[in-house]
Amino acid sequence: MIHDFASVSGPVRLDVDAVVVGSGAGGAAAAYRLQRAGKAVALLEEGAYYQPSDFHTDSWAAMRQLYRDQGLRAMVGTMIIPTMQAKCVGGTTLVNSAICFRIPDEVLEEWVAQEGLQDLSPDILRPLFEEIEEFLNISPDDEQYLGQNNLLMRRACQAKGWEGQVIRRNSRGCKGCGLCMSGCIEGAKLSTDRTFVPAFLELGGELYTDCRIEGILVESGKAVGVAGWVLDRKTEQPKHRLEARARAVILACGTMGTPVLLQKNRLANSSGLVGKNLCNHTGTGMLGFFEEVVNAWDGVSQGYCCDQFRKDGFMIESFWAPPDVIGIRAPGFGLYHKNLMAKLKHIAGWGAMIRATSTGTVTARRKGWSPAIKYSMSQRDASLMQKAMKATADLLFAGGARKVTPGIYGLPKELNDPSETRLIAEANLRPTAFNPIGNHPMGTCRMSERPGRGVVNSHGESHDLPNLFIADASVFPNAPGVNPQVTIMALAAHFADYIQTRI
Ligand SMILES: Cc1cc2nc3c(=O)[nH]c(=O)nc-3n(C[C@H](O)[C@H](O)[C@H](O)COP(=O)(O)OP(=O)(O)OC[C@H]3O[C@@H](n4cnc5c(N)ncnc54)[C@H](O)[C@@H]3O)c2cc1C
Repeated sequence: MIHDFASVSGPVRLDVDAVVVGSGAGGAAAAYRLQRAGKAVALLEEGAYYQPSDFHTDSWAAMRQLYRDQGLRAMVGTMIIPTMQAKCVGGTTLVNSAICFRIPDEVLEEWVAQEGLQDLSPDILRPLFEEIEEFLNISPDDEQYLGQNNLLMRRACQAKGWEGQVIRRNSRGCKGCGLCMSGCIEGAKLSTDRTFVPAFLELGGELYTDCRIEGILVESGKAVGVAGWVLDRKTEQPKHRLEARARAVILACGTMGTPVLLQKNRLANSSGLVGKNLCNHTGTGMLGFFEEVVNAWDGVSQGYCCDQFRKDGFMIESFWAPPDVIGIRAPGFGLYHKNLMAKLKHIAGWGAMIRATSTGTVTARRKGWSPAIKYSMSQRDASLMQKAMKATADLLFAGGARKVTPGIYGLPKELNDPSETRLIAEANLRPTAFNPIGNHPMGTCRMSERPGRGVVNSHGESHDLPNLFIADASVFPNAPGVNPQVTIMALAAHFADYIQTRI
């Protein structure tokens, strides 16, 4: 049953087997799995439950509606790096591009070896991946809806002899309107609000939306529940107190939200690692100008990738976003910028994301729930980014681009010949030369079997506080190098399978 700010008319007190906070990739997967196992589960989510007809095609309206800090969140260090998280049922899966990769076996094996993760291996996660992939219809998109932006990348990969593939996505009936990041107006994206959450509700699960959890209840050294407020959706002011007592408390507030909740409650931090080890897949986009019409908005927003260099630490993926967002990424000002944007029909957008090793911190502020996020890109990551951008420019030219705008400070605004991509390779580039985005934040409550190296173990349970579990991207020990949502779901399902044996 769904309870929202309008239907709740007084204080709420729940007594359940498990309470899950956050309904994104991790939380929804865990809640569904536990409910399916016959447990009584309450799923608590700060955001609202939207339907496709509620979404805006105007980016700024969508940002205000769906994103934390209205989409203006940033990691701040030697430069300002935007990073985005959603606040709604479905969490960030509702605004993402539906790209689905399993964590590569060798990366999981690296995690297992480095962190002594006794209960994790590719063989253990494989059946969970298979089940999730079937449930979310994870498959390559229909060719007819890929659109030229993606097809050009395929042509470019073929021309270079580089590995590439149509991306497998969690969608059904996607017609490629290119507006993934504003919420799927076609209802085709199979984000958790359209999959795990409805299935959870069907099984009798209780969902509270508009509900911000602020406290973790502890008795006799164990987590026994959570407390917070049902908020007025318009004013975001607390309206009714909500307390949920449970035998398992599962936090899935995401990489930014979970450490903030733990820090504010001064819990589960004997390792000192809560809020530390902030990782991401730092990425940046490049525009290629083609003689032919691309109409990149007409097609799947991220439908093709070049994975030739995945083992070297970067991936190249096509991307598209509404024109106002593309405008921000296009270089220059004034007339120059206007003339570039006038060629929108001829622009392809491709971007590189790296398996970054730099780390940052997420720290709760005394007031409010938006954290201070500190992060600086290391020279090692800048050098990797440089290689990735050189490869992206080469690929754009191989696909037939006549001009590429690298978007790197210190380099010409435009490269007009394939031979000029050497300028990217030859430049002496510092991190501040780039204009990156902090994709897929992870790692702020890292998982390790060794208490001094992690906040949770390989069952997702806190090393300090029995019955407290974390099931979101914050448990990743480091960045896996591929888009993470399916791995978050598989890990959450894995943790849930353990939790159900305990409650
Ligand atoms: C624009 C964009 C595109 C992306 N594209 C892809 C992609 O194509 N493929 C991919 O794999 N990944 C993609 N990602 C990343 C991916 O969506 C996230 O990594 C993933 O959703 C994180 O899952 P999570 O469970 O950790 O957190 P989230 O999905 O962010 O869920 C956390 C939930 O917890 C709620 N919450 C937080 N604090 C509280 C509180 N105190 N009380 C109650 N509720 C709370 C939040 O409102 C939110 O709903 C993209 C991200 C963005 C921003």
